[in-house]
Amino acid sequence: MVSIAIEAAVVEGAGSPFRFETLTMDPPGPDQIRVRLHACGICHTDMVMRDGALPIPFPVILGHEGAGVVDAVGPGVDSVAPGDHVLLSFHSCGACGACHDHQPGYCVEFVPRNFLGLTQAGQGGIWRGDQRIGGNIFGQSAFATHAFAHSDNVVRIERDLPLDILAPLGCGVQTGAGTVLETLKVMPGQSIAILGAGAVGLSALMAAVIAGAGRIVVIDRHASRLALARELGATEAGDDLATLNGLFDHIVDTTGVPALLGLAVDRLAQRGTLALVGAYPPGDFSIDPSAIMSMGRRIVGVVEGGIAPQSFIPRLIGYYREGRLPLEKLIQRYEFADLEAAFAASDSGAVVKPVVVMPQS
Ligand SMILES: [Zn+2]
Ligand SMILES: [Zn+2]
Repeated sequence: MVSIAIEAAVVEGAGSPFRFETLTMDPPGPDQIRVRLHACGICHTDMVMRDGALPIPFPVILGHEGAGVVDAVGPGVDSVAPGDHVLLSFHSCGACGACHDHQPGYCVEFVPRNFLGLTQAGQGGIWRGDQRIGGNIFGQSAFATHAFAHSDNVVRIERDLPLDILAPLGCGVQTGAGTVLETLKVMPGQSIAILGAGAVGLSALMAAVIAGAGRIVVIDRHASRLALARELGATEAGDDLATLNGLFDHIVDTTGVPALLGLAVDRLAQRGTLALVGAYPPGDFSIDPSAIMSMGRRIVGVVEGGIAPQSFIPRLIGYYREGRLPLEKLIQRYEFADLEAAFAASDSGAVVKPVVVMPQS
């Protein structure tokens, strides 16, 4: 196989804008799957990475909710073949205790494989002349016409499914839905409060409805998102923390705002659980330990929903086919060239889940 020319949106340094460039992509090496991308969702973590708040290798190609068609595979890859339609998710080592427990979000190599974008010996890269570009973020770097993904983070899907609508399953949607269905294991009739009605929060809401939760309260600042939350099955939705009255079996914080967490603990019922799903700033926040101990409350951190993409994404696709995961209500499509506008729409809260669509020549 020979190298190919690809188009990619490169971020030169922390806070830099996207610059569209033609780059050179090596042939796929061991455990590499070259995917011709059709779409990629925009996730909050992309913004955190572009801002330089995570240790990523600039210049870099971001994008970690890719969807497309397998174009070529490297030596030894037998999980997919050229022509297969695939969704891309996060990357893991497949060998540590967490990976063996089907909890790859807690892989001991999560940071190097997803944020540092490290490649393994013999694997191909993406180049600007002789300068290597960070091209393996979340094991994909999907703001491009082509990406290298891997056996563990490529999920094959049926060819009749819409790649643009389903692209966000690989991060934002599985994070919200997995938190409710797999980490919290919400039971029929239980109460749940969801703080923040972005893509993760609304996915948690749809999953709470699937789980048969009773009282479902959603808190957000944006009136449009609250209206969507009601449409998707929230029993109460408000922009005021006073909406968070009574006690809850489960609370999911997607906001990443530490100031809300003390209140969240106070609103947990006996043996209730607070799930921390947001991107929190570094630093301390205080919680009264006796408020946790005396009522048997729990606080749990959640990465990517606490799920294994290879089994959970097909389950979510089943819900989508049944009409129980109406993702089309969350997404807005943008041309790949309008990536900057898509980012701005996500940042301002105007769009819940922008998805960029790559030109197909
Ligand atoms: Zn691992
Ligand atoms: Zn993400």
